[in-house]
Amino acid sequence: MKYAVLVGDGMADYPLDELNGRTPLEVAETPNMDEIARQGQLGLARMIPQGFAPASDVAILSILGYNPRHYYTGRAPLEAARLGIELGPEEVAFRCNLITADKGCIADYSGGHISDREAEELIRFLDQKLGTEFIKFYPGVSYRHICVIKNANLIQLNCTPPHDVIGEPIKKNLPRGKGARQLINLMEHSYQLLRSHDINKARINRGQNPANMIWLWGQGPAPRMLPFRERFGITGGVVSAVDLVKGIAKLIGLEPIEVPGATGYYDTNYEAKAEYAIRCLEKEDFVFVHVEAPDEASHNADLDQKIKAIENFDRLIVGPIKKRLYEQPAFRIMVLPDHPTPIQLRTHTADPVPFAWCGQGIRRGEADVFSERDAARSNLQLRDGYQLMERLIKH
Ligand SMILES: [Zn+2]
Repeated sequence: MKYAVLVGDGMADYPLDELNGRTPLEVAETPNMDEIARQGQLGLARMIPQGFAPASDVAILSILGYNPRHYYTGRAPLEAARLGIELGPEEVAFRCNLITADKGCIADYSGGHISDREAEELIRFLDQKLGTEFIKFYPGVSYRHICVIKNANLIQLNCTPPHDVIGEPIKKNLPRGKGARQLINLMEHSYQLLRSHDINKARINRGQNPANMIWLWGQGPAPRMLPFRERFGITGGVVSAVDLVKGIAKLIGLEPIEVPGATGYYDTNYEAKAEYAIRCLEKEDFVFVHVEAPDEASHNADLDQKIKAIENFDRLIVGPIKKRLYEQPAFRIMVLPDHPTPIQLRTHTADPVPFAWCGQGIRRGEADVFSERDAARSNLQLRDGYQLMERLIKH
């Protein structure tokens, strides 16, 4: 049996006035996801357990069958794993965004989606200037980096994800709690160091947002995971441009598959992602494909791009992989978002998400399209979304 799980990050949304009360998923042309819902079943599952901040880290652990209540220690430790950073005792990993600070506000959580090359130079520069025996900076991808601090007290701090407070004053959103001063000092220092850096001068000259400050959040200590092979008895790979997802893969013993041109943005190389996923299925039992673009479009409140990203996901990822699976003697396929990212809110919510699956042994339900509305009407509802994977594989 071959299994494929295909995730369109943040695809789910609310009905919108400008779409005459429909959601982007309902408006987008998604013949492939609709067909999966029609040939198999459509349901609704809660991926974010109560009390957890709605984000891809928790949601993707759930999708992969790991109960966040047992396995989640923070977002940054998962991303750190991807970068090969091993956290020692007392060490806490933070997500270190390169952001754009402007007039005391968080103007852009992504430093203008800065390139890897520019970002790496800035992060190495910060490591030279601010790094110590106890504080280290590690370059990641685009605006997403890691800072490791040896001080277990910092685990409890209250830190705000910058994409939740775009346009808001920096002062109002700084880390809070015992020991917060250490982080605030680093963030303030970074602004002094980065604002006049040559890379940022050049970015401003080109009309791009400068990456002139770091923002620390998403912290946690090293997690302890049970390997996927032990949990489900199969092996496989993960296709994603996002470090967080590759980090989770690495921690549970799935192979993070490098795909040329996978960017985690609108311009990602969809065709190559599908091709590498198909290649993975030729030798492995399982593939997980994650596409970030619909989520990015929601954060940017760009409705046209969101619809286009959903259509690209359906046509260029779901379509070709589904086609190949239908040629296999036995398969199961599941499509879903990890969490909703309602475009009006420009951030994630914990609402349950629609999922659809079909294949060997999955009887046909009553759905005809893949949408939030139809899923809510289905009688297949899961309060603990982490059970989906077990049902997909074992039942
Ligand atoms: Zn997001």
